[in-house]
Amino acid sequence: MRKKLIAGNWKMYKTAAEAVAFAEEFSAVVNAAKPEPDIAICAPFTDLAALIPAFGGSAVSVGAQNVHFEKEGAFTGEISPGMLAEAGVDYCIVGHSERRQYFAETDEGVNLKAKALFEVGIIPIVCVGEVLAEREAGREKDVVGKQLRDGLAGIAGQDFEKLVIAYEPVWAIGTGRTATSGQAEEMCAYIRSVVKEMAGQDVADRVRIQYGGSVNAENAAEILGQPDIDGALVGGASLSPDKFITICKA
Ligand code: PGA
Repeated sequence: MRKKLIAGNWKMYKTAAEAVAFAEEFSAVVNAAKPEPDIAICAPFTDLAALIPAFGGSAVSVGAQNVHFEKEGAFTGEISPGMLAEAGVDYCIVGHSERRQYFAETDEGVNLKAKALFEVGIIPIVCVGEVLAEREAGREKDVVGKQLRDGLAGIAGQDFEKLVIAYEPVWAIGTGRTATSGQAEEMCAYIRSVVKEMAGQDVADRVRIQYGGSVNAENAAEILGQPDIDGALVGGASLSPDKFITICKA
């Protein structure tokens, strides 16, 4: 039985002081509501040191949004897996479409980052998804299949089953245009079939596959009700404790 994971992706929003204010408000509602899914907030690097203790008394985990795959070195501006582990993060987003689009992130880089994160015990949330032109050309499965085969190549079974895959159609991110629950389920089921090809039935049964792209308090229940959708990666709606708790309880 897969436990759902609702993860917030704060992107480049919230200073450390704003993050702590969120944590205080959100911890109180989480503790009162006792929602069933695993919950995480993936925050900017500079928030992590303050955010992790601020969530200390609640069941909310903290994640990062990017990492470098090397242990250390002359990589100005980068953060290593060991630095994240020491800070105490549980998850790290890898290959988000904004990083692919604006920071030239490749499937090969995703692969190195995912493996480096497993080495320090952090669970990667690996993002895949097609752009609008690819969907309109009927190529969404080819695109996502390649992202999975290249991005997850060579990850061992005991790691593979722990990772989280987020299906995020790029045309649905931050646009208010959500995929229908049918489109989201079709792609998440397809992703599970690719995982089965790559790592076998047991891993495919265990791996968690999220949907992301304009998930909000209104559409979350229907999306999360689909059999192959094991949670959501939530951008804009994770910035407000009220909206995010509604999604966590959906
Ligand atoms: P959104 O972002 O919920 O604001 O569409 C999702 C994401 O980018 O992970």
